[in-house]
Amino acid sequence: MGDGKTHKKPSQSTSSALPLFFLSLSQVNKGVYVMFSGLDYERLVLAGGPLGLSAAALDVAVPYAATRVQGGKVVGDHQLVGGRLADMHVRTAAARALVMEAASRADGQGWASPAERAAACAGAILFAAEAGTQTALDAIQVLGGNGYINDYPTGRLLRDAKLYEIGAGTSEIRRVVVSRALVGAWKK
Ligand SMILES: Cc1cc2nc3c(=O)[nH]c(=O)nc-3n(C[C@H](O)[C@H](O)[C@H](O)COP(=O)(O)OP(=O)(O)OC[C@H]3O[C@@H](n4cnc5c(N)ncnc54)[C@H](O)[C@@H]3O)c2cc1C
Repeated sequence: MGDGKTHKKPSQSTSSALPLFFLSLSQVNKGVYVMFSGLDYERLVLAGGPLGLSAAALDVAVPYAATRVQGGKVVGDHQLVGGRLADMHVRTAAARALVMEAASRADGQGWASPAERAAACAGAILFAAEAGTQTALDAIQVLGGNGYINDYPTGRLLRDAKLYEIGAGTSEIRRVVVSRALVGAWKK
């Protein structure tokens, strides 16, 4: 049941957001179990989104830093800017490796237990989503004033990225899932 109202959002404008109200989350056709049974794979698939946004942020920031001249050299040759580019690159590569590792397990051998699967999928999107937001923020900074105006895509990348820290369970809940698996394994 919904209220029929579509909510405006900062970004992700190609999809509509409207609430659904459930009269009961317990039995009837056990829809809540269906929803939760798909959540691990939903998180894993969604992790590709912020990964793409991180890559897009680098695609904007690196050429810009390699061509924009300030103080007699391109800004990418100023060490503080170059260091930021390096962090953006390494963070994106780390996120890609984590997501790909989980994805290849999902395609192949799977996990030893549902808790391990939950932790791997929640961990992949936790890292990829926070990396996406930080990398988009870094791209804005690398572009300076141009990063903050809408002639460049960096503001939209940031707005798009932030949702991935919220949808399909927030970063906080993902940390709960990962920590539960870690502690739970020692309780056995
Ligand atoms: C654009 C958009 C699209 C969405 N699409 C979907 C969709 O397709 N399907 C769907 O099911 N949902 C969807 N959602 C809902 C989304 O999954 C929830 O908004 C999200 O899980 C957070 O729930 P909440 O908004 O009720 O926040 P709350 O649960 O009220 O959380 C508020 C804050 O408290 C923290 N918090 C809450 N509980 C705990 C806890 N136990 N421990 C630590 N911290 C906690 C949260 O992390 C958050 O920071 C969408 C949301 C948006 C904005």
